[in-house]
Amino acid sequence: MKNVSTVTVDTSRQGVLGRLYIFAILGGLAVTLRHLLRNLFGQKDVATIQYPEERREYSERTRGRHILTTRDDGSLRCVACYMCETACPADCITIVAEEDPEATVEWEKKALSFEIDLLRCVFCGYCVDACPKQALIMSRQHEMAFTTRDEAVVGIEELKQKGPIEDEDLGYRPYY
Ligand code: SF4
Ligand code: SF4
Repeated sequence: MKNVSTVTVDTSRQGVLGRLYIFAILGGLAVTLRHLLRNLFGQKDVATIQYPEERREYSERTRGRHILTTRDDGSLRCVACYMCETACPADCITIVAEEDPEATVEWEKKALSFEIDLLRCVFCGYCVDACPKQALIMSRQHEMAFTTRDEAVVGIEELKQKGPIEDEDLGYRPYY
């Protein structure tokens, strides 16, 4: 039979105060008090910030709200290939495809509807990585609030890039 090492704890050696955990509780309260005083009087070296008055500077490649990019003529670059929908681990992308009458040899379809449920999204960026057309990228916009679940499901109009791409606060995207 295999030997297993065990540790025997002798609780009988603890006094009454030890068994009531008085010193452990007082020690815990002392730690809490120390942090309280440090937060009150040592504001410079605390990790928390006074949001929303104070904002953190996030990385250039922050994974924020998605953007659907467009071609020069304003049409979506998305060719409804379902690569992003397939790669999404949260199942939060829903695409309905239709045939594109303007199609060239490069693509056949376009997105009739393209929705992302931002409440399900975990902002992993897999959809951006999967897109072969650089049609889906991410902004650095991470402050989102919704009053209903339906509001969190955003479609083409909300996701479409408005104006020149240089004006967007771009976040995670393929390396061009
Ligand atoms: S960021 Fe991740 S979870 Fe969100 S839509 Fe893209 S693949 Fe899905
Ligand atoms: S991977 Fe890109 S091109 Fe394909 S459906 Fe998604 S956004 Fe459109």
